[in-house]
Amino acid sequence: MSSSEFQSVSAETLRAWDNEHVWHPFTPMSAYVQEHSPIIVSGEGFDLIDEAGRRYLDGISSLWCNVHGHSVPEIDAAVREQLGKVAHTTLLGLSSEPSIRLARGLVQRAPSGLSKVFFSDSGATTVEVALKMAYQYHRQKPDGPEDRDTFLCVGNAYHGDTLGTVSVGGIELFHRCYKHLLFPTIVCPSPVATRVPQGQTRETWLQFCFDEVARLMKENHQRLAGFVMEPIVQGAAGILVHPHGFLRHVRALCTQYDVPLIADEVAVGFGRTGAMFACEQESVSPDFMCLAKGISGGYLPVAATLTTERIFNAFLGEPWQGRTFFHGHTYTGNALGCAAGLASLELFEKNRVLENVAACSQLVREKLSPLWQHPHVLEIRQQGLMIGIEMVRDRETQEPFDTLLRLGHQVTLAARRRGVIIRPLGDVVVLMPAPGMPAALVGRLCDVAIECIEEVTKSVA
Ligand SMILES: *Cc1c(COP(=O)(O)O)cnc(C)c1O
Repeated sequence: MSSSEFQSVSAETLRAWDNEHVWHPFTPMSAYVQEHSPIIVSGEGFDLIDEAGRRYLDGISSLWCNVHGHSVPEIDAAVREQLGKVAHTTLLGLSSEPSIRLARGLVQRAPSGLSKVFFSDSGATTVEVALKMAYQYHRQKPDGPEDRDTFLCVGNAYHGDTLGTVSVGGIELFHRCYKHLLFPTIVCPSPVATRVPQGQTRETWLQFCFDEVARLMKENHQRLAGFVMEPIVQGAAGILVHPHGFLRHVRALCTQYDVPLIADEVAVGFGRTGAMFACEQESVSPDFMCLAKGISGGYLPVAATLTTERIFNAFLGEPWQGRTFFHGHTYTGNALGCAAGLASLELFEKNRVLENVAACSQLVREKLSPLWQHPHVLEIRQQGLMIGIEMVRDRETQEPFDTLLRLGHQVTLAARRRGVIIRPLGDVVVLMPAPGMPAALVGRLCDVAIECIEEVTKSVA
């Protein structure tokens, strides 16, 4: 829309049209229409600017995908330059320069062994692709085909909202309605000791989780097409951070039993945990690595499933053999998105983004430490710049607040009044500053979060 067209419509009209036509994702719409949420018209650095010219700090990287800020000159220029050539052409049996270059850029930075790149357009599609590839791989592998028909996944996992990814996911609230549409899976407990079953301590529970995944692998490996997990941090479950060593443990079991490991790095990839990819935190190379969200710097819907030569080779053969991977999305490897992705990769090195994440995550740790004493804060979970602050009515008994209070949402509204955009997961206040956000802004984000948690918990205490 040109700015003149935009100005010819008042903010009030836009809001009316929004309420009339736009169905927002993951949003209770009856409450939404009452709330007069900002209508974002532009972005500058780490600020978002609404229809009334109000500025907000983007405290959740525009839902976990922004990396270097908004209107970044280098990425804008790369997209414009590509736009001067062509916006989109298909990858089905044809190629394009930006997709080739981005594939190479990703492979050069990925854990070793991941040399094949299958493009798609969202986090959910990268995981769907990995599931279907892993499934088909066993049917076609040259060292003896097998019909492996299920996946091992982790409790409370989130891998997207398509039916395949909901099948390997486990978030009750999002998924229970669809359970009859899903394929069966085997689930190991999430290795997190925030709440442990009766009779267990932190240590015995975590040991049980390690043992349980070993038992499930031993008993089921002949039917397992793959093990799918979010490495290091389970984002949507409430920023649950796995104990060090769990990922390596899973990798070792996958190797022992020859079960492909599918690492969903959609949320954790591109610097957010402190390494370029979370798998590097435990020197793990998965068999599949799913990348989306941050891959284009948060600009455009590009995504990629990386895999190994070994998996790829099982799909080779004469066309009549039918070993082809029959899967694709129309906008796969979109040229503008790939150009943005390449520019973003270059900025990681130019701006020393990983060093910024290290410094800022230390700052967050210090800034938020007083909250550990807060009577309504159960726990602060943090890995790099992924932060979850869990609020409860009673810290001792871990009794949650009444969900009808929507306390996490109240904190979001309080933050908005202070010019900061955040979005919670239930009563977990999530802070997800962009990996490139300067320390001063990260500090402000923490200060506002603390103020809002105090204000909102006081109002119901
Ligand atoms: C967001 C997310 C997805 C889904 O990505 P979409 O682009 O929204 O489909 C998948 N896995 C994880 C871990 C995510 O955080």
